[in-house]
Parts: sequence; C-alpha cells; structure tokens
Amino acid sequence: MKSQSNLEPEFVERPTRNQHWKDECGVFGLWNDKEASHLTYLGLYALQHRGQESTGIVSLTEKEGAPHHVHHKAMGLVADAYKEKDLERLRGRAAIGHVRYSTTGSNLLTNAQPLTARVKNRPVALAHNGNIVNAAMIRQELSDEGSIFQGTNDTEVLLHLLARSPESDIIEALKRSVSRLEGAFSFVFLDDRQMVAIRDPWGFRPLVLGKRLNAEGGYSTIVASETCAFDLIGATFVREIEPGEIFWIDKDGEHSIRFADKNHKLARCVFEHVYFARPDSIVFGGSVYETRKNLGRALAHENKVSADLVVPVPDSGVPAAIGYSQESGIPFELGIIRNHYVGRTFIEPKQAIRSFGVKIKLNPQAAVLQGKRVIVIDDSLVRGTTSKKIVQLIRQAGAKEVHIRIAAPPTMGPCFYGVDTPNKSELIAANKSVQEICNFVEADSLGYLSFEGLFKSVKGERGSFCAACFDQKYPTPLYD
Ligand code: AMP
Repeated sequence: MKSQSNLEPEFVERPTRNQHWKDECGVFGLWNDKEASHLTYLGLYALQHRGQESTGIVSLTEKEGAPHHVHHKAMGLVADAYKEKDLERLRGRAAIGHVRYSTTGSNLLTNAQPLTARVKNRPVALAHNGNIVNAAMIRQELSDEGSIFQGTNDTEVLLHLLARSPESDIIEALKRSVSRLEGAFSFVFLDDRQMVAIRDPWGFRPLVLGKRLNAEGGYSTIVASETCAFDLIGATFVREIEPGEIFWIDKDGEHSIRFADKNHKLARCVFEHVYFARPDSIVFGGSVYETRKNLGRALAHENKVSADLVVPVPDSGVPAAIGYSQESGIPFELGIIRNHYVGRTFIEPKQAIRSFGVKIKLNPQAAVLQGKRVIVIDDSLVRGTTSKKIVQLIRQAGAKEVHIRIAAPPTMGPCFYGVDTPNKSELIAANKSVQEICNFVEADSLGYLSFEGLFKSVKGERGSFCAACFDQKYPTPLYD
C-alpha cells in the first residue's frame, strides 16, 4: 500500500507476518441519529486507508420490544461491502463500525469486526484498533479454564474477560477487564444501553470525539480513529478520548471515568504522522499534513544535495516533498504519476513487459525527468523494494542522477502495537548500512532524516511518542 488515498495494496508483495493478529484498523461509532448506520458507513469510507481487507457495522435497534443488534460484515472495501439494502437493514439510532487489514488466519470473516456476542445477557459489539501484546497469554489462561474462542484475533479476549467479570455493571466490568490488557487499544463498544470509547493508557493509537447536529435538531456523539471521518459527515471535533479514559454515552448523556492514572507515560505512535494517518487528519493534536511538510523541510535542512528537481513517490511522499522543495528552493515536480484505479490483481500479458508490475501503478514522466538530477522523496523505507523499483523507473525515463531521501529515520524494528511491519530479518535498515542500502536500491545517494529532525517536526514532547519502529525502544513488555 503506497498511497493514502489509494486503497489497494502496494505493487510490491506485502510483508509476511510473524503473528496472525497484527492488524491495521480503523474504528467509528455514532450515537443518536436515525441514519446512524449510513453515517457509520461514510465514516468507514473516510477511514478506508487504515484497513482494506474486511469491514463491518453493528447497529442497535429493537426486535419485539427488546434491544437488538443487527450486523453486516464482509471482506473487501467499504464501497463494495455494503449495498443500500444492507444499510436499510442496519436500523437504529446507534451504530459502530470497523475496517481491518490482516492477511492471514484461516477464516478471515470470523476475524472481521465489530465482534459480536451476548455478554451478561445482553448484546455487545466491539471494534478495536491496535494490538494487545498480552492477548496470547490471557487467551491461554482463559482457554485452560474452559473458554472457547471463535477467532484468532487478539480483540476477543476482552469479550471473554468481560463475560467473566464479577461486576454486573458493564462499565465497571469494562474497567476491570481493560485494566488487564497491555499494549495498544482504541476500542469502540456498543451494547443495548450505551456506546463506549476506551483508549489505552499509552495513547498508542488515536481516538477522537466529535459531535454533529442531527435532522431532529439534537446532537449525535461520534468517536472515530481520525478526524477525517468527521469532515466527511459534517461533524465537529470536540476532543481526543484521553489515554486511560473510558467515555460513554447513554440516554442520560455523556460520562467519563479513568482506568489508568492521568500521569501515565504516553507512547503515541509517531508512525501515524510519518505514514499511516491521512494527511487531512489532526492526529495527537497536530496536523498530519503540516507534520509531513515539516519532515520534508527538516530533511532538506539536514540532507542537502545539489539537484534539478524534487519528485515525490505518490501519494505518501507528497507533503514531505513539498516541504523539501520549499526549504531547499529546488523545484517540485510530479515526475511519477500514479494510476488510482488499479485493482488488487491484474492479468499480465504472456510476453513480459519491463517493470510491468510497477508501471501499472506508477508511471514516470520522461518529459519531466529527462536529463535531470532528481531527488526522490518517500515517507519511509521498509524493505527497500519500492525504492529500488522507483530508481529503475526514473533512470529508464532518462534521469541523469537519482538521489533518494527518506522523511523518517531508518526502520529498524517491527511494530507490535498495530502497524503492519515485516520481521526484523526483512527490514533492510536492520541488516545493512546506509551505503549498502544505497547500493541495493542503486541510487546515486541515499539519506534518512535524523531523530532530532523527526521530533522537531512532530507537535509534542519527544518522550510522549512511541518510535519503536525506528529506535526499538518498546514501551511495554512484549509478553506474547
Ligand atoms: P518497502 O518497499 O518495503 O521499502 O516499502 C516502503 C514503502 O511502503 C514506502 O513507500 C511506504 O510508503 C510504504 N509503507 C511503509 N510502511 C507501510 C505499512 N505499514 N504498510 C503499508 N505500506 C507501508
């Protein structure tokens, strides 16, 4: 997956995973609108970049006078997963939804979220973004005591903890249950009485609260992974769900309690700003677009090279390339054009076409690149495969020199908190020096951003971020 606006996987093979429950996900929930499921569908549409493999919506309605959950889950993109009749069926004034990316697991639809169950004799639905690092441990313990798990995902442990919790009050039961979890979790939960939002004490993944005027002149309460989901449905941002907070809304209004100390150390994922979040979102209080431009500016400041053009790898490298161009005074050009309409698979002709797999998505413009010294900007370099192919394409288009600049430090370690990264053995920077990587991608030069440059560009204290993918300082013990 290269692009934020583009929804299909990268032309290079996706990294292989060492755990089958490592997800990239987006969550959304809305309370108090007669079109709750339609608005949730739109919210998920805006969050599609966070996961493209499966999606689901659960709404709260009534059946024979009793509260009742209706759900629809499907593999694939939001645009394909729901038909008008599905949304009509998802009646009710409250709904939660999920988009998920995960490649393995025998029955992928079983793992699709929101997960649904009957707990304490009521319907519950749960959507999760993040990765719980002691899930396998808890799962083993619960299985030993007789719990039967439906899927292979980490999220299900919360439903089991909830079912076993001695508290009859669901918020108290949630409080006890989430206190046992370690790692990254931004949850949206719906039962027959309330919608609940919970964020882990480290604040790894974003989770924001918004409101929207509904058709009856009242207000809907909304939670979402990113603010771009609010923009699409005309909602306004209110605040972040705080790390360590349980927020809920029911017929009596909004409530909030904490399950972790307000002074708990933060570990907000810096990679949300580098690559994962949409550039039009405000994440952890800062504009992703501005941050990425700052990353590009800092890169230009630290890593000068004499050249004729600054060219982004579309689309994820665009804001950083703008920043690099502005800081260096070297003109910005779209030297590579992306085809946004490429599907997941394509049928190759029998007779091989040079670099076909790359060119179907990215086409270098010879008219722009011919005879030029080019600086190519990308947001990150993981295995080096993308950069290598791009260098080849740009040279084939007639560029005289190709200099790769990466608007982040070298990716050194896998993420255990919900971003899909390959094993360490596949991370090129964990195994080769910068010069060796440069040789591998066959560029004239290669430069990364420093840690100082990274943290100067992101709003907030350096110590309040998790940058484990770059510095391998994992904030939690990695139990599993
Ligand atoms: P690679 O070819 O493995 O070096 O991948 C680097 C490219 O993948 C960069 O252009 C990034 O925009 C993109 N990328 C980085 N991290 C991820 C991720 N977690 N999921 C999908 N794509 C990513």
